[in-house]
Amino acid sequence: MIGEAALETELRADGPRWIVGVDIGGTNIVVGLVPLEGGAPVGLRNLPTDAVRGADFVVQRVADMVAEVIREALAEHGGARADVAGVGIGSPGPLDRETGVVINTPNLGWTNLPLRDLVSDAVGLPAALDNDANCATYGEWWQGAGRGVDNLIGLTLGTGIGGGIVLNGEIIHGASDAAGEIGHMTIEFTGRKCKCGNYGCLEAYCSGPNIAARAREGLDAGYESVLTELVDGQLDRITAATVYEAAVLGDYYANEVMVETAKILGAGIANVINIFNPEAVVIAGGVTRAGEHLFAPLRTEVRRRAFRSAYDACQILPAALPETAGVIGAAAVFKKAAFGAV
Ligand SMILES: [Zn+2]
Repeated sequence: MIGEAALETELRADGPRWIVGVDIGGTNIVVGLVPLEGGAPVGLRNLPTDAVRGADFVVQRVADMVAEVIREALAEHGGARADVAGVGIGSPGPLDRETGVVINTPNLGWTNLPLRDLVSDAVGLPAALDNDANCATYGEWWQGAGRGVDNLIGLTLGTGIGGGIVLNGEIIHGASDAAGEIGHMTIEFTGRKCKCGNYGCLEAYCSGPNIAARAREGLDAGYESVLTELVDGQLDRITAATVYEAAVLGDYYANEVMVETAKILGAGIANVINIFNPEAVVIAGGVTRAGEHLFAPLRTEVRRRAFRSAYDACQILPAALPETAGVIGAAAVFKKAAFGAV
C-alpha cells in the first residue's frame, strides 16, 4: 500500500515530524505539510489542476508543489528533509490502493495511471494513495468536526456527492476500494438519471448542478421566484449557490427547493445512520452555506426516518475544515499506512 522505502519506518520521538498531504481535485491541487501529531498544514499551495494538459503535466505539477512546500516550510519552521516521512495523496477514483493506480477518472481523463509511484519517484519520498472523498472524511475525523469520535460518515456536496465511512477510526474501503459511495445510493427507485448510469441516486438530486437543475425545472413549470431576477432571466445561469442566496433572502420558492433538498438528503442520511450508527455525519461543500435553511429541515427529516436511538446518538454537522480536510486526511492516510496508526 506504500512505497517500500517506508516499510522500515518507526514512530519514534526523534523520528520524522511532518507528512506532505496532497489533495488532487478536478479543478485544483492543494498541497501542505501536516505535523505528524496533527494540526493545521503549513506552507499550503493551491494551483489549478489543468488536467487538459495531460497526466504527465499534473504529476510534474504535484511533484513541484511538494518540493516547494517542503523547502519553504522547513525554512520557516526549521528541520531537515529527513523530518518529512512521506506523501499522502488523495485523488478522484476509482483507484487501487494496493498498487497505487488510479483506474479511471472521467473528470481528469486518466486511465490506469500509477499515480502513487510516479509521485513517489519524482519527489524521492514514499507515498500512499486513497480516494479524495475518503481523505476528506478522514481529515474531518482526525482534526475537524469529527475529532474524538470513533464512527463518522462524511459527505461532500459539490459537482458530485463524495462519501466516506470511518468506523473505529479506520476508513472502510471494502473488497475493491469502492466502499463509501454514499452519493450513489438509490433514493428514488425510478428517479432521475445519474452520471454513474443508475437512476435515482442521491447525487442526481442533491449535487450542486442537480439542485440548480431542480430549481430551474420548477421555474420552467411556472413557479415565481426572485431567482429569475438574480440571473437576469437567464435560467441557465442558476447555480446551487444562487438557490441558497435566494433562500437566505427569504424567497419562498428557493426555500422550498432547499427544504426538498434537505428532505432527500435526510432520507439518505437516515439510511446510513440506520446502517452504521455513527456518532457524527459531517457535511462539506458549498451547500453548507445555506446554514439552517438546510440543516434544520435536514435534522427533522433524519429524525422522522431513522431509528430513534441511532438518531439520538448522532450529530449532523457542517465540516470544520472546508479548505484543508483533503490535505490533512491524505497525510493521515500516509501516517496510517507507514506507522499503522493515526
Ligand atoms: Zn449515481
